[in-house]
Amino acid sequence: MSLSGKTALVTGGSRGIGKAIVQTLARAGAKVAFVYHSNTAAADALINELKAEGHEVVGYQADAASKPDADRIVEEICEKWGGIYVLVNNAGIIKDGLLATMTAENWSAVINTNLNGVFNYCQAVTRPMMSARSGRIINISSVAANFGNPGQSNYAASKGGIEGFTRCLANEVGRRGITVNAIAPGFISTDMTEAIRNAAEDTIKKQIPLRRLGNPEDIAAAVLYLASDGASYVTGNVLTVDGGLTLGAGM
Ligand code: NAP
Repeated sequence: MSLSGKTALVTGGSRGIGKAIVQTLARAGAKVAFVYHSNTAAADALINELKAEGHEVVGYQADAASKPDADRIVEEICEKWGGIYVLVNNAGIIKDGLLATMTAENWSAVINTNLNGVFNYCQAVTRPMMSARSGRIINISSVAANFGNPGQSNYAASKGGIEGFTRCLANEVGRRGITVNAIAPGFISTDMTEAIRNAAEDTIKKQIPLRRLGNPEDIAAAVLYLASDGASYVTGNVLTVDGGLTLGAGM
């Protein structure tokens, strides 16, 4: 699945799932820009790794929740590379807590990063994508959108919002040659899930029919598919990549 000659922008691209997406898209031949929040060492290490392999990659430090940052970064990339073919909205955080005691700050932080960030980058790229009459938008949701996990009302609201948003935008821009899809990962081994993995990895595995946690590369492979020519007739979908977790308790 070659992306040779294509350009991509990935938010939250310095660690975890986003890092694997950046690596996968770059190794498929795309020029890749990514946004990260604060871990400059991780971003620099990724840039150096991919440049050493001969790939064109650039990192931007910014807050996904900032609309001015999104507008500026998209404009800069379009000037530099002539457009953006693939946008992956991956930046996301958790700030879990029962609603009774959840602070307004923790509610807003999750909604602003996870959901408003998707609005910011989608709105910034749709004009250049519409002019180009082509583009692929891939939003990273979560199986938590539909689980009702106690303590994740902010996170579930953000991810459920992403899925509804994805369907609306797919309908709005389909006639301009742009596809818009979401991916809902299950449990993936990243920094985000480190605490819960340490506490309950064996219990979690028993609930997954494929009997393993996902790797960031499992999600990156799904992103590559949705970005590829083979997915040109796929839009408005949520692709679940969870080892079967959402089928119900494993046997
Ligand atoms: P992670 O390991 O914590 O990495 C998060 C990435 O997002 C980092 O690159 C981080 O940058 C960046 N980021 C965080 N806040 C940001 C902000 N405000 N602006 C820009 N970038 C920001 O997370 P992950 O597990 O890879 O998760 C990636 C996505 O997958 C998230 O949307 C998450 O909700 C979703 N997801 C994850 C799982 C899972 O099991 N891990 C399951 C379902 C869905 P810095 O390095 O600078 O902090």
